[in-house]
Amino acid sequence: MSNEMKALSKLHARQGIWMTQAPVPEIGPDDVLIKINKTGICGTDIHIWNWDEWAAGTVPVPMITGHEFAGEIVEVGRNVTDLSIGQRCSGEGHLIGKTSRQSRAGKFHLDPATRGIGVNEQGAFAQFLKLPAFNVVLLPDDISDDIGAILDPLGNAVHTALSFDLIGEDVLVTGAGPIGIMAAAVARHAGARHVVITDVNADRLALASQVADVVPVNVAQDDLKQTIADLGMKQGFDVGLEMSGNQQALDQMVDAMTMGGRIAMLGIPPGKSPVDWSRIVFKAITIKGVYGREIFETWYKMIAMLQNGLDVTKVITHRFSANDYEAGFAAMKSGKSGKVVLDWASL
Ligand code: NAD
Ligand code: ZN
Repeated sequence: MSNEMKALSKLHARQGIWMTQAPVPEIGPDDVLIKINKTGICGTDIHIWNWDEWAAGTVPVPMITGHEFAGEIVEVGRNVTDLSIGQRCSGEGHLIGKTSRQSRAGKFHLDPATRGIGVNEQGAFAQFLKLPAFNVVLLPDDISDDIGAILDPLGNAVHTALSFDLIGEDVLVTGAGPIGIMAAAVARHAGARHVVITDVNADRLALASQVADVVPVNVAQDDLKQTIADLGMKQGFDVGLEMSGNQQALDQMVDAMTMGGRIAMLGIPPGKSPVDWSRIVFKAITIKGVYGREIFETWYKMIAMLQNGLDVTKVITHRFSANDYEAGFAAMKSGKSGKVVLDWASL
């Protein structure tokens, strides 16, 4: 094996990401080396490409980007006894410490020392990735590399959607980006009664309808209250999944919730934004912030659901060779795509 590989790296502190040659990572005793087959482009990668305030303040350069991946184990560290060469895998991109109170309580996803691959540590947009064996999630034969490459955002959707009991409940999802669409599909799969998804982008709502049995509402032109009436709902929504990061969407959600409703918030509003707390108090609404995936309960649940009829294949709208990454990023930036997957195996 050559000790050089192709990688997409944030080489300079300005707009762009560049295909470059990088050394194949050297693994430690507790790591594995993964040959990357497919990767997904995430909104985070777009922030890094654009070099916005968050990226400039968070990501050191040079940095190999990317954290959504599927591949195959090609080397195991000497302490790794439960994994072997040739196994197909994806993996948790949040690298956690083991000494915090949260980690020692088994709540790994709440470790305050969490570091992200492709953000704080060298990432997955490369022919090879070094990952702690602890973070590896093996892929069953019936889960493709394409789906393996989007388990990270599907995990965000599953973590958020399963925050509250959904059986027989009326669920509102605000934001029909890839994660909102997958969350809506999970809510449907998990037994919600009505699943309504909102956006201001008609393309995204059309995609949502292709992926899952949902009621799409374009809130730029249609009245959500009318949808509630049309569905024969007597009160508001029982569960809200906020997936847009948009202040107006959150306001609309609070307005459309029933008394005692529960909201799980994944969307990240830019900066501080005004919130009408009195409405939240008087409606006795519970709000839960959601970060990442539960390690590893979310992974277990999502793979089980995929094996039991949850189908999110259609959320992947574009596939490119990693060499054509610029077209992939352009598709993501167009606002019309679902997930965009890059192929590294054919390089
Ligand atoms: P995305 O940007 O692709 O989708 C957001 C969607 O919200 C867009 O389609 C946009 O048109 C829509 N939107 C804008 N205004 C709206 C409004 N008023 N009402 C309804 N929809 C509206 O994002 P994504 O990749 O699907 O991710 C969803 C959110 O989750 C983003 O805010 C992202 O930053 C966040 N995120 C959080 C975590 C976490 O761990 N907390 C992880 C990944 C992503
Ligand atoms: Zn991601």
